[in-house]
Amino acid sequence: MTDARPALPAVHKLLAEVEERGLTHDAPREVIVQAIRETIDIARSSDGATPDGGWAQAASRRIREKQKPSLVPVVNATGVILHTNLGRAPLPDVAREAIARTAGYATLEYDLATGERGSRQAHLRTLLREVTGAEDALVVTNAAAAMVLILNAVAAGGETIVSRGELVEIGGAFRIPDILEKSGSALIEVGTTNRTRLRDYVAALSPRTRCALKVHRSNFRLSGFVTEVEIPELVEAMEPRRVHVIHDIGSGLLLDLSSHGLTGEPLVQPSIEAGATVVFSGDKLLGGPQAGIIAGPAAVIAQAATNPFTRAMRPGKTVVAALEATLALYRDRPTAMAKIPTLAMATADPDTLRAQAAELAARIPGATTQPGTSSVGGGSFPDAVLPTTLVAVPAEHPETLLSALRAQEPAVVARAGEGRVLFDPRTLQAGDGDHLVRATAAARQMAGETG
Ligand SMILES: *Cc1c(COP(=O)(O)O)cnc(C)c1O
Repeated sequence: MTDARPALPAVHKLLAEVEERGLTHDAPREVIVQAIRETIDIARSSDGATPDGGWAQAASRRIREKQKPSLVPVVNATGVILHTNLGRAPLPDVAREAIARTAGYATLEYDLATGERGSRQAHLRTLLREVTGAEDALVVTNAAAAMVLILNAVAAGGETIVSRGELVEIGGAFRIPDILEKSGSALIEVGTTNRTRLRDYVAALSPRTRCALKVHRSNFRLSGFVTEVEIPELVEAMEPRRVHVIHDIGSGLLLDLSSHGLTGEPLVQPSIEAGATVVFSGDKLLGGPQAGIIAGPAAVIAQAATNPFTRAMRPGKTVVAALEATLALYRDRPTAMAKIPTLAMATADPDTLRAQAAELAARIPGATTQPGTSSVGGGSFPDAVLPTTLVAVPAEHPETLLSALRAQEPAVVARAGEGRVLFDPRTLQAGDGDHLVRATAAARQMAGETG
């Protein structure tokens, strides 16, 4: 039998052609050869036909693909402010500048006054005390790590009391019973799913009790016949028995947003004021880099600071730089509200959003605006319905257009509606609008949508 398939080019010949025609994108030779092999392999495993634009161009496209970093910026047009898959909080400008400024050598653990070793925590401790009111604080890689650390430090080998209504799973693999097990503390469940009273905690006390843990049910709500114990009464009952109260609060909300209609998310300060040790994330509402913050009584923080997990979970200099810059903005409420993107987006004025949507829609042929809602995301303010105005781009196949939008540079991530693709101006950052207009035109052409 004869093979009717067209002949594939030889690697060395294609390599010579790519080099001769200057199509290498200055890639290392290894990458060029690999890209050429892959280009040929792909053709072999399909019909063996010459790719669009010829072999050399196809190899060149592949070389370019291989040179691209894997982690790239995107335009978030979804309206989900804390989109975990998109890196949660976009950093304030001052935090970006702080990262760039300290990316070389920096005083991470160096005291310039003495020329001796310093502490990476020192850059954050004073600010955290100032903005949370806590006696002391400690920063690790994320809140899940902070939970393992603090529970291990105060409750390993002993018992931790938790309400059955708070044995939650947050964002996939974070489950309170598993975290307790890994931190070496025995879980003592009290109460029922919907009602736990102070006397349930008190009845569970034993000589082995080290800690009472309260967990904020970040991503869901219990409603109806519900009773739970508030932090101040829990601390008051536990303190005489030398039992710590730890509050896993999740989002790190430091400013009261109730005047903007955002309620139901606990603030950090009241729990600290009541005497609890609070654990929260740096990259949720707080609006900084990924970090886990533990703030509370000096004695508890000292116990955590000497725990070996602290060394295993310490934050790197880019995190310290970005968190210091973000926390400094909290010294002044108006500054924080204006300069921390998560807070600015969560409290954006509906009229401004409507005007932004109208302006965008006017620049995209066939686009209209429609009322819609954005969400905070990241398990924060799960009930909040943030009114917004969406830009609706008509599309016969919305999923195809979404995919073409993701193929743009930078990629645009948006939502699909019935016969349309939807852009929410709430999560667009400075300069995103112009890109969105261009990217939509290019994506429509790519997806065969006329508009
Ligand atoms: C998000 C969240 C966590 C986990 O925080 P990470 O910083 O993502 O590790 C833990 N507890 C609560 C209540 C949360 O909302």
